Amino acid sequence: MTIPPAYRLATLLVQGGIERSQYGETAEALFLTSGFVYDNAEQAEATFKASIDHYQYSRFGNPTVAMLERRLALIEGAEACCATATGMAAVNAALFAHLKAGDRVVASRALFGACHWIISTLLPRFGIASEFVDGTDIDQWRAALARPAALVLLESPSNPMLEIVDLRAVADLAHAAGAIVVVDNVFATPLLQKPLQLGADVVVYSCTKHIDGQGRVLGGAVLGTKKWIEETLQPFIRNTGPVLSPFNAWLLLKGLETLALRVEAACRSAAAIADFLATQSGVARVWYPTREDHPQRALAMAQASAGGTMVTFELAGGKDAAFRLLNALRLVRVSNNLGDSKSLITHPATTTHMKIGVEERARLGITDGVVRLSVGLEDVEDLKEDFARAAAAG
Ligand SMILES: *Cc1c(COP(=O)(O)O)cnc(C)c1O
Repeated sequence: MTIPPAYRLATLLVQGGIERSQYGETAEALFLTSGFVYDNAEQAEATFKASIDHYQYSRFGNPTVAMLERRLALIEGAEACCATATGMAAVNAALFAHLKAGDRVVASRALFGACHWIISTLLPRFGIASEFVDGTDIDQWRAALARPAALVLLESPSNPMLEIVDLRAVADLAHAAGAIVVVDNVFATPLLQKPLQLGADVVVYSCTKHIDGQGRVLGGAVLGTKKWIEETLQPFIRNTGPVLSPFNAWLLLKGLETLALRVEAACRSAAAIADFLATQSGVARVWYPTREDHPQRALAMAQASAGGTMVTFELAGGKDAAFRLLNALRLVRVSNNLGDSKSLITHPATTTHMKIGVEERARLGITDGVVRLSVGLEDVEDLKEDFARAAAAG
């Protein structure tokens, strides 16, 4: 039985996209194979002519990867999905599949470090002009999109300052400028925010984050219309090869089964820890999208069903205080990763956002006292106690 999109989210997360083999296995089968055989030369010819439906090579398609792609498309409410080896492979493929020399790209400045590098450094090498705007300032979007553009890339909520971009307003401006809108929806997860319903054309994920959510594998996904995925993206992916391993696809299918349970629990804890941190001496400011003091709370709550699993805060004592806190925590571990069942803490200025330089960090509000927390699935009281104890020790 194929699972139609009419089923509710929890059902799609567990059963969506399954295609059972002749053995009737309960769990999704892992087709760990690079290639496929044909009954005869005629069948091989027909496969290459695409006159029959037959797998030919795992760079072109694999049954386990296809199950993941179908499940992700059902969850997103997208017509089609293409899985990739990493989140960056997804972003890179979406950009390079769509763009050509002479095109112009507009992006929000608050992007994941590697996305920022592609826009600022790599695209111009290929004759593609790029321009950054403050994603929270609609006037800057309007000015940048007063001229024709081919593509808009944005992230909301952004990493690490949890800024919110008005997706509907930006999509309207982008479409009027002739651009497609690509949204990096990692922080919101496929569950909390639906960019396609808010006007986006393409959604990208690092499946490494919440979708695996257990620190095991890298993966990515690009979602959009059937026409764009099949005609624009797929030829790029199939010929350049940033495809997802079947083994990683299998783990990601298992990750999706518990995604809603994990994200809901982590969101609850994150909201509680944001409030807790705001009461701690030494904490100058806390950013969490649904908190009263978030400058874009109304927009955050209109666009997403919860605040997410990330909390950002600023220590009054700058880098020294931040390092003291990170070093004194026991349960919460220092890592640049996020979206894991284990709580992880990052000092962006010296790690994930070191390479963008001091000026760009200042523009983004990433001071030396800013700390980013990815809230996991530990008991929230243990997490609070870890922070309280670390603060006392510092
Ligand atoms: C992690 C991340 C990426 C890149 O994903 P990888 O799987 O590490 O390649 C892109 N965008 C955002 C917002 C991320 O958090």
